Amino acid sequence: MSTDLSIKAKAEAELNRFYGYSRFRPGQLEIITAVMQLRDSVVLMPTGGGKSLCYQIPAILNDGCAVVVSPLIALMNDQVTALVANGVPAATVNSNMSDADNRDIMEQVFAGRIKLLYISPERLLSEIERWSTELNISLFAIDEAHCISQWGHDFRKEYTQLSRIKEKFPKVPIIALTATADRLTRDDIARQLNLTNPYKYVSSFDRPNISIKVMSNPGSRKKMSIITAMIDKYSDDAGIVYCLSRKSAESVDAELQARGYRSVCYHAGLSARRRDEAQHRFINGDVQVICATVAFGMGIDKSNIRWVIHNNLPGNIESYYQEIGRAGRDGLPAEALMFYSFADIVTLQNFANESGQIAINTEKLSRVKAFAEATVCRRRILLNYFSEETDCDCGNCDVCLDPPERIDGRIIAQKALSAIVRADQQVGNTMLIDILRGSARAELIVKGYHKIKTYGAGRDMSFAEWSNYMAQLLQLGIIEIAYEENNHLKVTSYGWKVLRGEVEVLLSKFYYDTPKRKSNVARVVNVADMLFSELKGARAKLAKKEGIPPYMVFSDKTLMEMVEKAPIDMLSFTQIEGVGEKKAIKYWKTFVKIIRKSKGLPAIPSKGTSYEETLMLFNSNYSVEAIAKIKDIGQKTVYEHIALLIKDRRITDFSRIITREQYDRVIDVSKKNKMYMYLILSHEMPLGLPAVALAIAEVLGDYPPPFK
Ligand code: ADP
Ligand code: ZN
Repeated sequence: MSTDLSIKAKAEAELNRFYGYSRFRPGQLEIITAVMQLRDSVVLMPTGGGKSLCYQIPAILNDGCAVVVSPLIALMNDQVTALVANGVPAATVNSNMSDADNRDIMEQVFAGRIKLLYISPERLLSEIERWSTELNISLFAIDEAHCISQWGHDFRKEYTQLSRIKEKFPKVPIIALTATADRLTRDDIARQLNLTNPYKYVSSFDRPNISIKVMSNPGSRKKMSIITAMIDKYSDDAGIVYCLSRKSAESVDAELQARGYRSVCYHAGLSARRRDEAQHRFINGDVQVICATVAFGMGIDKSNIRWVIHNNLPGNIESYYQEIGRAGRDGLPAEALMFYSFADIVTLQNFANESGQIAINTEKLSRVKAFAEATVCRRRILLNYFSEETDCDCGNCDVCLDPPERIDGRIIAQKALSAIVRADQQVGNTMLIDILRGSARAELIVKGYHKIKTYGAGRDMSFAEWSNYMAQLLQLGIIEIAYEENNHLKVTSYGWKVLRGEVEVLLSKFYYDTPKRKSNVARVVNVADMLFSELKGARAKLAKKEGIPPYMVFSDKTLMEMVEKAPIDMLSFTQIEGVGEKKAIKYWKTFVKIIRKSKGLPAIPSKGTSYEETLMLFNSNYSVEAIAKIKDIGQKTVYEHIALLIKDRRITDFSRIITREQYDRVIDVSKKNKMYMYLILSHEMPLGLPAVALAIAEVLGDYPPPFK
């Protein structure tokens, strides 16, 4: 896709003005260009990749209203709040609002006052029949578009009827967006939406800022201490614990609460109201942790999620990758930690067996299992899974950072194998480990397993250690699980060779460890840390006052840049990434004040009146109105600055200030009645604008080159 230069310039201007970002991420501009050229598109980008901007910028640039189809109300509300905070008129109609409110919003859409309308698929399908084909719709965006496909992992029936959009509005471009990767789903999306020759964008799935780590389940007590250490390490931020079952989500939540952590639970068994409430509390930073099943997380755009822990092995790599992708969306370092155990594999295999798609789900499970047990760079495995070529190790996963130490596992394997054989291959993993460790539990004694020769032969190792090695033996094909026979362990033909000592067994050494805490001892509280937390405090206050989540005021990344660049006046504040026009106006004083104080500078920055400032703001695409507000001066004064800057030939793009018609009118009136010119024009245009017209005329003669 070639990028049209005029689209590029306009798109960059809006990016800067509304979002405060200085450049597009890879792919965004190409996608925006496609939409602007009225081409359909299918966009595949990982969570946090920046999909929303791909339709929001065209929505801002184009006349009319963009219709965004999105499956979850909470998600729509979030997007709308964030857009409004940036000064973009956006709204949502949904089933949580009264009919009257919904009708009111639609009135505003029809009147052309809304740039982006978020709507659920079922609502759209009923609304669309009422819409005139004359309605000025700039584009349709289908978010979470994989929901349309049965191939995907989150099929939704309402999505299949979205083909109606193309039938009714054949000329309006459709952009379908998803973070789910496989090719079948992608093609299915294009087909089902009736897209014509869509532009397809598939971005890299790499999220290098997320460190990846997998640990064999170290036992529930140890696991809990690792989870709490993670919470403590990021005590100001938030994380997610994903659990395999509703019950375990509840129990982890309860345990964390009992230890005094601010935690909440989320799963599909809770009422819609309770789920919304949990999500809301998490988004708003009321809680530090959400303990959830896979039901949680679609479309969560909370930028300061610093970690995701998988309490159990997830069922497939797609879900795993999407789930860890919820961390570190601001691009700052984040951690993904997975615990896996033998028991998880058994549970998941049973799920697969009952799923009605045994072959596919077993294959998916075996891939995720292989990932968990891998001894090569984990990121490479993930990227390979999504068909992305990688030629070097990532340096940010546990395998890269801490290559596993190999040990001779012959004795370990033989102990396990011989116990399995002596128990007639009629025991599961837990019983086997209990035998090896010499447990005296009733069931074991009743069955007489305490009499077999290897009873207690593995006392020297903990249960967690044994579990880890058993999982490795399974992965190496030395033992297998008979799922159809109560998950009993069987010795494979390769296992017999091991037992007879005919082959070597190399195992990865098992270690216990926990995430390192930020050391509390003798921690040097440096100035930057202090400033950062003060800025966070100010942010929290503002957020509370406005009833929006803190990260919608500014992301952590933006605050960190404030610490680093230490803007001490309004102008330098506007140059921070993430500070757009509206937020600059609203917030600069609050933040600059804190920064100045930290530097020992007088609290109130002298009121800036210079032309230079006006010029810089103008060049950052701030409107005249915004410049006036931010500098706390009248619009007329801003126009006067601009007039002088034009005379100095430092502003040459007039089209942003005055229309051709306004210009012609000023010239006309000035020729006919110069004396009363200002009086005549004062009713027609903003005060000060005639001065601009006259400046242009002075610089270029009466007829400047055509306005854009
Ligand atoms: P996705 O929908 O793909 O999951 P989002 O559109 O929500 O991701 O974007 C993720 C985060 O990245 C948001 O906080 C967004 O503001 C930010 N972002 C997007 N594009 C840019 C950009 N060009 N420069 C800086 N930040 C960006
Ligand atoms: Zn790696």
